[in-house]
Amino acid sequence: MRRKISIFGATGSIGQSTLDLIGRAPENYDVVALTGGGNVAQLAADARKFGADVAVIADEARLPELRAALAGSQTEAAAGQAALVEAATRPADWVMSAIVGAAGLEPGLKALEQGATLALANKESLVTAGKLLMETAAKHGARVLPVDSEHSAVFQALVGEDMGAVERVIITASGGAFRDWPLERLAGASVAEASSHPNWDMGQRITIDSASMFNKALELIETREYFGIDPEKIEVLVHPQSIVHALVGFQDGGLMAHVGPPDMRHAIGYALHYPTRAKLPVERLDLARIGQLEFSDPDPKRYPALRLAYDVMARGGLSGAVFNAAKDMALDRFMAGQIGFTQMADVVKATLDQLLPDDGLIDAPMTLDNLRQAAHLGQSTAQNVTPR
Ligand code: NDP
Repeated sequence: MRRKISIFGATGSIGQSTLDLIGRAPENYDVVALTGGGNVAQLAADARKFGADVAVIADEARLPELRAALAGSQTEAAAGQAALVEAATRPADWVMSAIVGAAGLEPGLKALEQGATLALANKESLVTAGKLLMETAAKHGARVLPVDSEHSAVFQALVGEDMGAVERVIITASGGAFRDWPLERLAGASVAEASSHPNWDMGQRITIDSASMFNKALELIETREYFGIDPEKIEVLVHPQSIVHALVGFQDGGLMAHVGPPDMRHAIGYALHYPTRAKLPVERLDLARIGQLEFSDPDPKRYPALRLAYDVMARGGLSGAVFNAAKDMALDRFMAGQIGFTQMADVVKATLDQLLPDDGLIDAPMTLDNLRQAAHLGQSTAQNVTPR
C-alpha cells in the first residue's frame, strides 16, 4: 500500500537524505508536502520530481519565485509560517520533521494532532517542548520516532526491553572539529574551522554545534525527554570513530551497543520502515578494517556546554526553550564574527544564570505562547550579554 508522506525541511541535509531513500522506491509513496526555508530551486525541483501536492517555502518573499518555478506542475505553491503549519494538517501517514531550529515545533505538533507518525530529526522540538510534544502524541494516538543517530540507537537497543531494568544510557560524541586541538587555541577558532566535521556530513549549524558540543548538550536533554530517563543516568562518551552511536546499560551489567556507519540514512530508514528493517543503501561496516574503537570521558574544560545541559535538565519547565534560544543566538553571534568560539558557552551560561532563577515564566505552563516568550527572552538576553 502506498504511504502518504510529508517532509518538513526537505531542502536540508536530513530532508535530502530522506528524499534519497524515498526516491529509491517512489512507487511506495505519495508525497503530500515538501518544505524549505529559502532554497526555492531545490524545493521546486524535488516537488516536481516527487509530484508533491504542496511545496511551502518559509520565506514569504520567495513565493513569486516558487510559483514561477512550479508553473505547469501539479504542485501548489505556498509560503510563510502559517502555510507550513497548514501543510502539516494535511493527512499523512509519516512525517519527517527536519526543519532546523525552533521553527520545527509547530508543524511537528500539527502532524501529531492528525495522528501521523512523526520521524523527529528536529531535536530542538524535544529540547524546548518535549513534554508538550510527547503529550500531544499520546493524546492523538500518534507516534514519535527518533531520527537523531544516538536516539535511534538507544531506541533500537531498547526494543523488547523493560525500562525499569535500564541503569544508564550512554550517548557517544565524536568530539567534533577541535577534539585534538590544544585548549588554548580554541578561543581563536574560526567559523570555517568549526564548520568541518571529522566524520559526519551535516548542515553548517549542527556541525559547529558538534565542535562546541552544544549539539551533544541538546541531545542529553533530548534523551531525557524522549525516553523519560533521569539526568544522572545519562552519560556522554567521546568516541572518535562515530561507529558506536549509543549504549544502554541494564541492571544485570549487560551493555547493549548500537553499531552502525556514520550515515544518517540508517536512522532515517529505520524510522521510515519501523517496525520492519528494510534493505538500506548504507555502508556495511568492516570492523576488522576499522581495527580499533576508542572511548574517553569528555573534558569539561573543552566542552562546557555539557554541564549547562545538566543545569537545564535540573531546572525543567521552560528552561529548555531559553537554553535553545540562547544557544542559537550565541551561534549567530559567533557566525557573524561578533564573539569567539569559546565565548558561545560564556554567552549561554550568562543567559541561564540571569534567567533560570526566575520562578515566573520558567515555571509557566508549556503552551506555545509561553514557549515563544521564553525563547524570546533567551534570545534577547543572549544577544546583549557581554561574554568574558
Ligand atoms: P540543514 O540546515 O541542512 O536544513 C535545515 C532545513 O530547514 C532546510 O530545509 C532549511 O531550508 C529549513 N529551514 C531553515 N530555517 C527555516 C525556518 N525558519 N522555517 C522553515 N524551514 C527552515 O539542517 P540539517 O538537515 O542538518 O538538520 C535538520 C534538523 O535535523 C536539525 O534540527 C538538526 O539538529 C537535526 N539533525 C541533523 C543531523 C544531520 O546529520 N544533518 C543529525 C541529527 C539531527 P533551506 O535550506 O531551504 O533554507
